[in-house]
Amino acid sequence: GQCITHCPVGALRERDDTARAFEMLADPELVTVVQVAPAVRAAWGEAFGLNREQASTGRMAAALRRIGFDYVFDTNFTADLTIMEEGSEFLARQKNLNYDGRPLFTSCCPGWVRFAKAHYPALVSDLSTAKSPQQMFGAVAKSYFAEKIGVTPEKVRCISVMPCLAKKQECALPTMQDAGAGQDVDLVLTTREMTRMLKSEHVRPELLDEEPFDSPLGTGSGAAVIFGATGGVMEAALRSACFLATGSNPDPDAFAEIRGEKGWREAQFSLGGDTLRVAAVSGLGNADRLIRALLHGEVQYDFVEVMACPGGCAGGGGQPICEGCELAGERGGLLYQIDAANPIRFSHENPEVQRLYQEYLGHPLSERAHHLLHTDHTAWKMPSGVNETGQTREFALQ
Ligand code: SF4
Repeated sequence: GQCITHCPVGALRERDDTARAFEMLADPELVTVVQVAPAVRAAWGEAFGLNREQASTGRMAAALRRIGFDYVFDTNFTADLTIMEEGSEFLARQKNLNYDGRPLFTSCCPGWVRFAKAHYPALVSDLSTAKSPQQMFGAVAKSYFAEKIGVTPEKVRCISVMPCLAKKQECALPTMQDAGAGQDVDLVLTTREMTRMLKSEHVRPELLDEEPFDSPLGTGSGAAVIFGATGGVMEAALRSACFLATGSNPDPDAFAEIRGEKGWREAQFSLGGDTLRVAAVSGLGNADRLIRALLHGEVQYDFVEVMACPGGCAGGGGQPICEGCELAGERGGLLYQIDAANPIRFSHENPEVQRLYQEYLGHPLSERAHHLLHTDHTAWKMPSGVNETGQTREFALQ
């Protein structure tokens, strides 16, 4: 893509993929499918000066249709799917007699996965193998969904809107091509790129009527939307793990203790008679401190959520920039309000996720689920630096 230079001497460049997105939208042969990450809904309206009521997901979906996307879906759908797989993986690990007491780490943040691979390679086998919601979405869109609408996966272009720059690299990993038609996610736009596209097409979201997401990849629970706030993945996973372990739902707010803005939080919960020790960190400095404390035996956890950006994805590097303000906490608070207002608070109660298992995947951790929804973090190498032309080298398989 082209580069937009923010740095006065041109040393720092931010990739701009909007031209590639417009090319895909203009090609009548292609079916364009867009997914929008949980944290985007808490921030996109800032660029248009919209208030909270105006900046609804309904208006965002309508605006994305105006610029030509054929299907507008919600990454919340696959956030729920991630919880089904990761929650099941966590319980299977706890039940395993060979369980060595090391914590399972979340792996949906590619900034954290790269940090772990570079600095603590011995911990990589403790990263959840469940793919991030973005990558699960791509794999499902180019298999289950393509089949449903009767097109070959090669004709589908899967585009994401993410709060994140690291997601652009995640979709290009050689291990993220499981639907058999090239990259499962073809292109990642940041929240800023999405708003630039809407503005360049003169879309005025405040004048649009609200429209629902498309189906069947457009429904998400309250548990999914809090993926965008630090601690949210942990909380969503515990809500469903509790159901999977005991057969009944806990109070949806039973794990609220893990919420908060402190960069490193911990809590203990009882799950089916066992005591679980969990922690959530945001910011890689905090992750580093937590890992060193773990390695020195100063702390012990069963499950750890790590987000590279302070405050989690709500404060991600692709979100609108407000000079001198830190909006991650406020945006995260908005996501918790959206969760509380959602009639579905548990990932396992998402009816479209249930249908996907019934019609296509079977059950969590099934063979097909493993193929499409899990990954091997050890199978690719970190790029060793930049090449002579100043571009980052491609990721390579191990
Ligand atoms: Fe991307 Fe930051 Fe979210 Fe990680 S925490 S997925 S780097 S926005």
